[in-house]
Amino acid sequence: ESFSDLNLIPELLEACEKLNFKKPTPIQIESIPPALEGNDIIGLAQTGSGKTAAFAIPILQALWHARTSYFACVLAPTRELAFQIKETFDALGSDMGLRSCCIVGGMPMVDQSIQLMKKPHVIIATPGRLVDHLENTKGFSLKSLQYLIMDEADRLLELEFGPAIDTILRVIPNKRRTFLFSATMTTKLEKLQRASLHNPVKVMI
Ligand code: AMP
Repeated sequence: ESFSDLNLIPELLEACEKLNFKKPTPIQIESIPPALEGNDIIGLAQTGSGKTAAFAIPILQALWHARTSYFACVLAPTRELAFQIKETFDALGSDMGLRSCCIVGGMPMVDQSIQLMKKPHVIIATPGRLVDHLENTKGFSLKSLQYLIMDEADRLLELEFGPAIDTILRVIPNKRRTFLFSATMTTKLEKLQRASLHNPVKVMI
């Protein structure tokens, strides 16, 4: 299996080549086609499996056709992970004109508000800080969001982000795609899955 079997636009095939991604990893082979077809995805995979590109590639391909701001939001449990995810999006999407930003705790709100006002396509955020901006940054909302991604969702739930995630789920459109990635399946996660995903395709590596 190669990236050219996955029905990707030439811009993404070139980006993969530039990054020296020679062939898709198992999680990418399993999740990219159903994601491109518009399915919700629940992926059980560890860090190192290539899961970030597994969700970034279909989002960038959808964004190429839509090109709207606040198109996708990725929730991550830690700042470090959020910045890593942004790096993957930027590496794959910069030649496509991608605008992305990181919205995480422990950094000045004002700088982040300025970033949000530049209308990024993709926001990578820790949940608490994202809610702060939804409540305090004028002109920012997620009413046009098309894709929600919850990465390391098991850790998102462990770290007591539950109330922030509930708030986010309330203010984003019901008509959206959701990708949930986790290393393990837990009872809490099953509850979150039922609350936030619609007929998901399950991918286990
Ligand atoms: P992740 O599991 O998303 O943290 O990715 C782990 C590492 O694998 C990252 O450094 C990626 O750049 C790299 N990677 C992702 N997909 C591929 C691929 N198809 N071929 C080679 N390396 C990849």
